[in-house]
Formats: sequence, C-alpha cells, structure tokens
Amino acid sequence: MVDLQTQYQRIKAEIDTGIQEVLDSAAFIRGPKVAAFQDHLEAYTGAKHVIPVGNGTDALQIALMGLGLQPGDEVITPTFTFIATAEVVALLGLTPVVVDVDWDTMNMDIDSVRRAITPRTKAIVPVHLFGQCADMQAIMDLAREKHIYVVEDACQAIGARFTFANGETKQAGTIGDVGCTSFFPSKNLGCYGDGGAIFTNDDALAERMRAIANHGSRVRYHHDEVGVNSRLDSIQAAILDAKLPHLDEYIAARQKAAAYYDEAFANCEQLLIPGRQAHSTHVFHQYTLRVVGADRDALRESLAQAGIPAMIYYPVPLHRQQAYRDPRYQEGDFPVAERLAACVLSLPMHTELDEEQLEYITKKVLEEIKR
Ligand SMILES: *Cc1c(COP(=O)(O)O)cnc(C)c1O
Repeated sequence: MVDLQTQYQRIKAEIDTGIQEVLDSAAFIRGPKVAAFQDHLEAYTGAKHVIPVGNGTDALQIALMGLGLQPGDEVITPTFTFIATAEVVALLGLTPVVVDVDWDTMNMDIDSVRRAITPRTKAIVPVHLFGQCADMQAIMDLAREKHIYVVEDACQAIGARFTFANGETKQAGTIGDVGCTSFFPSKNLGCYGDGGAIFTNDDALAERMRAIANHGSRVRYHHDEVGVNSRLDSIQAAILDAKLPHLDEYIAARQKAAAYYDEAFANCEQLLIPGRQAHSTHVFHQYTLRVVGADRDALRESLAQAGIPAMIYYPVPLHRQQAYRDPRYQEGDFPVAERLAACVLSLPMHTELDEEQLEYITKKVLEEIKR
C-alpha cells in the first residue's frame, strides 16, 4: 500500500543529518528541532498556532479538552471514519452523535448534520476523509449560526485546500476553531514513529491546549488543570522538518497516480472513481473505489494473489462497532455509510508509484472485474 523505504532513500542525507543533530545535542524532548518544525509548519499551513503533540488521536482529545467540553455535551462525527474520531469523544465522557456521509465524496453529509443538532450539541468534528476537505463552507455556516465549535479531523488531509464563496482559500485543519493532524508513518506527511499536531488561530485556546498537552502545566510543577503528557519528540520533529519541504512534491505524486487510476477506470461500470468535493483539492491519502455490481471481496482476494495489496477503509461504520453500540442507532440508520462499508476498496497509493506499477495494477483490476 505504501513504499516508505524508497521515499527515505531519496532524502536519506537530509533525514540522517537531522537525526544526527538531535543525537549530538541530546535535546530529545522539547528541543530546538521541535520549535523549528513548529515554525515551518505554521508558515506552510498558514495556521497562527501549531502545537506539536504525540499523535493524531491525542490532538483530537486535547482539542476537545481545550474547548472545555463537559460530560453530556454532544459531539457530531461521521459514522464512516477511523475509530479515533469517536474514541476521544467517548473517553472524555462526551456523547458521540454519528451522522451519515455523502455517497460520492464519502465525507460528512450536511443535511444529516443539520438534523442531528440538538440544544446539547457543542461541537462538530468533520473528517476530511481520504484527503479531501468536507464541505467546510456549509459546515462553518451552520456551526456559526448555531454557535457550535468545529474541530477538523485533518489527519488524512494535510495540504488539502478549500476555497470559500468569498474567494478565500484555506488549508485543511486551519478552517475550524481547531484542526488536528497525524504524522503516523503512512500519512501524507509521516514521521518514523508516532506524531501529531493541533492547529488554531485563537491565541487563548492555543495557550490552553499547549498547557493541557504538558500535564496541564504552565509553570513547572504547578498544574492548573488536568492535562495529559503528549509531545512530539525531537527525533520525529527532525524527520518531519526534513520532509516538510517535500510535501508539495509528495502531494503532486499522489495526485498524478490518482489521475492515472481515474483514467483507467473511467469507463468501467462496476468501478466508481472517488467523487470530488466541490471547492476542495484532493491530496489522496487514499485512492478509494466503490465496487458496484461486482464482488468486492473476490476482487480484493485475486489482487492479493497477483501481489497487489488493496485495503478496506473502513469495513464497519462506527454505529455498528461493538464498543460503540448504542440503542439510539439501528442497522440501516445510516444507509450510505453501510453501503460504502460493503463496497469500498482502496488501491496502493503513495509517492513512489511509477507508470509500470500503475499499469500492472490497473490492468489486473480491470481483468478481474471483467472475469
Ligand atoms: C490516522 C487518523 C487518526 C489518528 O491518528 P494517530 O496519529 O494514528 O493517532 C485520526 N483520525 C483519522 C481520520 C485518521 O486517519
């Protein structure tokens, strides 16, 4: 699915130098590499504040803590996403309220969000799934009207851009009150372990989230509130700082591979290519087909036999997960998400796919579909 070795070999000297500098300085925690990466990521994203943290899941948790959400507050998330989005809501004793997604973009469906809002709704967590922004114009308009916070889960979408009706363009993660991203190795900007970051333009909120990420402490050994221990370590920051200047090339390589897939599958009735969200760019964390009128699992199996990995993101929507069973939700309540879970198939997508590989993959997929 990914080829991290080749990507490393291409920039080995830059990465190795960065790591060596950390080893020589022995500033393993909160060192100058973390500060440098923070500055560079602020410049890249346009976010006023970047708060580096331990991983994307922590970023989401700290965001909800920073907003001061209290047990019983409702948080709206799409039911078709990675589990972390709802996990932190549940861990904090908040009430996850799940909504359906759009069949074409696979992102949060705005009419479902509107219907899910109650007087207890405190936040909406749109997930920019597979690398393109949810409909942030509609989500922000609705949230402002109802005085609800927006926490973007931009873990899969760093570098994606959304253009608003007034012509303004903003990056994924910098649009809502808070944005969160992950540097998990396979993410579009991945480190060599765990890492994450929080984005905000709000000074007071940034200060509070920075303290929460550091045991709720502003002055050493003085704790103003209950926090967590969540830091980006200096070695990971050095790796990310070496990779950040390449992010736009990485995105372009993914987009090029996606264009190849799009063209190859355009005339195949059983394969629906990813629908595009109006006003957003797509950075293709995943290239996800919908297999209709053909056996998705059999296709996946025969691709595996041909040495082509293909993955199902995600086979079970949140409302059907054992840990998140809720009498409010029944099978069939979120028909689009359930249909997607049964038909999606993600093909290999990374920065190192060449024409030969793409040709092999697309040929095999089409052969198997026609069988
Ligand atoms: C990867 C991911 C996360 C969590 O990130 P980690 O760094 O693995 O904790 C959260 N939400 C989404 C949508 C993700 O893809």
